[in-house]
Amino acid sequence: MAPKDNHYPTAELQALDAAHHIHPFSDSAAMRARGARVITQADGVWLTDSEGNRILDGMAGLWCVNIGYGREELAEAAARQMRQLPFYNTFFMTTHPPAVALSAKLAEIAPGDLNRVFYAGSGSEANDTNIRLVRHYWHAMGKPEKRTIIARKNAYHGSTMGGASLGGMGAMHAQGGLPIPDIVHIDQPHWWAEGDDLSPEEFGRARARQLEEMIDRLGEGTVAAFIAEPIQGAGGVIIPPESYWPEISRICREREILLIADEVICGFGRTGHWFGSQHFGIDPDIMTIAKGLSSGYQPIGGSIIRESVAEVIEASGEFFHGYTYSSHPVAAAVALENIRILGEEGIIDRVREDTAPYMAQKWATLAEHPMVGEARMVGLMGALELTPDKAARAAFANEGTVGLMTRERCFANGLVMRHVGDKMIISPPLVITHEEIDRLIELAWQSLDEGMAQAKAEGAFTA
Ligand SMILES: *Cc1c(COP(=O)(O)O)cnc(C)c1O
Repeated sequence: MAPKDNHYPTAELQALDAAHHIHPFSDSAAMRARGARVITQADGVWLTDSEGNRILDGMAGLWCVNIGYGREELAEAAARQMRQLPFYNTFFMTTHPPAVALSAKLAEIAPGDLNRVFYAGSGSEANDTNIRLVRHYWHAMGKPEKRTIIARKNAYHGSTMGGASLGGMGAMHAQGGLPIPDIVHIDQPHWWAEGDDLSPEEFGRARARQLEEMIDRLGEGTVAAFIAEPIQGAGGVIIPPESYWPEISRICREREILLIADEVICGFGRTGHWFGSQHFGIDPDIMTIAKGLSSGYQPIGGSIIRESVAEVIEASGEFFHGYTYSSHPVAAAVALENIRILGEEGIIDRVREDTAPYMAQKWATLAEHPMVGEARMVGLMGALELTPDKAARAAFANEGTVGLMTRERCFANGLVMRHVGDKMIISPPLVITHEEIDRLIELAWQSLDEGMAQAKAEGAFTA
């Protein structure tokens, strides 16, 4: 395919980019040495770069383009709304039809009595809202000392001060003096890397019980909430053992704390259900949403809140909190159209009943690769654990080196598959076909071969 002619030559774009654009989560020196990758258009699951190369997007952008690229209906919904009412706020007792319609729709698809929505511009902002909201809730309940939020190491909850504090990424905490006060972290349920000699089920229960131990250590009267992703995404698609969520649920039921499920990745079909909580039988008080909510076509996030919790907030007077772009009409209109298509076209049902089982079967074959210690997947999110020694579940000596080599081979071969340390992770658009899955697996196998060969040649293939 010829490159689109509506942009400068690639080298010029790269030079201007390097001169004026600071990138999120990028090593600027490395990027300048090579030039940023320039993506110019996309369709379905395929990206096109500025040189006309087609790349299979195994990450759905950043876990968000659930519906796939190029849906005219979403562009139309945005254009229609921009013409009619491009912006109005929902502060000071005002609303508009897209905010009303989206809220009613979210209440309909969210489980149980999760019936009220507070909007943000992103998942990070929504989690900042959650911090203020749960503390304000306990204050209104006459228990202002219940402030501490328990989260998990290696969780990802966003990049704002609050979101990054809830997250358990050491490298993020090291920059900027995080976490903020009254946020603590327990260990993650990552059996492959941390389970030692325990069975996955024993390990899952043990990790869940850390929540109970932490509540006891801090004193139940000081704990506001526990927050967790049903499946950790950015941490490396860490799928908890089956014993984990039932035990967490028991603890949250028995103790007086709120449970926040961060559904930013797991929501909107990723696991083959509307929400990851439904996959695991979790009964949260609050769900954080973003990403797949609009399939990334517009920036929008939010918190879906249990009615009984919202009523306490509502009865306590004005909640002094809001973003200019809370319930932005264009973003809301696009999200609503996205949800309509996900539902009416049966995309989520197809993931659950057809695509995910097919993908899981193909993905499992990658575990036969000599460098892959585990191939795990739920719905359409999965990971490979790269290892120099499968039997020992050994880590590479120089963590992340082989993962990076393999990711670079993937890009060169026309596949976006990210690496987190030495885990390779995948989260394709939910509209991926069997044929495209076959291609993805072929490209992944080839890239694993090449990554392993390079690791061996460069002496990096050691425990
Ligand atoms: C991406 C992500 C966020 C942050 O969302 P942004 O829209 O990037 O602010 C929060 N939680 C989880 C689980 C995420 O994956």
